[in-house]
Amino acid sequence: MIRDPETFEALLDSVRRFVRDRLVPAENQVAQTDEIPESIVQEMREMGLFGLTIPEAYGGLELTMEEESRLLFELCKTSPAFRSVIGTTVGIGSQGILMDGTDEQKAYYLPKLATGELSASFALTEPDAGSDAASLRTTAIRGTDSEGDHYIVNGTKRYITNAPHSKIFTLMARTNPADKGAGGVSAFIVDAKTPGISLGKNDQKMGQKGRAHL
Ligand SMILES: Cc1cc2nc3c(=O)[nH]c(=O)nc-3n(C[C@H](O)[C@H](O)[C@H](O)COP(=O)(O)OP(=O)(O)OC[C@H]3O[C@@H](n4cnc5c(N)ncnc54)[C@H](O)[C@@H]3O)c2cc1C
Repeated sequence: MIRDPETFEALLDSVRRFVRDRLVPAENQVAQTDEIPESIVQEMREMGLFGLTIPEAYGGLELTMEEESRLLFELCKTSPAFRSVIGTTVGIGSQGILMDGTDEQKAYYLPKLATGELSASFALTEPDAGSDAASLRTTAIRGTDSEGDHYIVNGTKRYITNAPHSKIFTLMARTNPADKGAGGVSAFIVDAKTPGISLGKNDQKMGQKGRAHL
């Protein structure tokens, strides 16, 4: 349901103008440089596009599914790379925190995701775990040392959209090696600066110049 049609139509109009005046003219540059100019990403932040699905209580626009779909129809009238900029934060990167995060995690991360200060990726897929996601091999084993409780994560992910741009990853890893199915898997919020994370090469995908999938 559209809650406030007038406000929503104004938002749609501003996205239409943004696509026509800023994104379409930048398509060639993005295709040639494989980069989206930071000035465009900043405009997306200022329009609130990183917070489409995040509740208003956390600074987002809290669009309904219908509203989000209609807005994305407009945003996708240009290179799909531009939608990818916000795609992982709006969707798989933030929704796990919203659904299953603690109150502290929600209060800390969601406002920063909504403004685009932080952007998020979802790290599930592995070289040998795609459709059958529950077969993932990355492990997160709890250990203790002088620095306190922590998990040691080992594994390789692939096809992680926006990986080089994201500040946090929602990472899926096996915390119970005895359980080979989904029951042995837990989700972690991992800071992208965590020591030991290295990024692979960017996969070249048709129509996706300008956004990385590692
Ligand atoms: C553009 C892009 C962005 C992505 N972004 C992300 C991301 O941000 N984060 C992330 O974690 N992952 C991401 N992925 C990965 C995506 O989720 C996986 O590609 C998907 O889960 C499929 O896995 P796979 O590629 O290993 O294919 P496979 O699982 O190996 O499947 C290959 C083929 O086999 C078929 N198949 C598989 N299992 C069966 C079965 N049991 N019965 C019959 N047929 C079967 C499939 O339909 C498919 O045709 C992205 C992928 C793409 C292409």
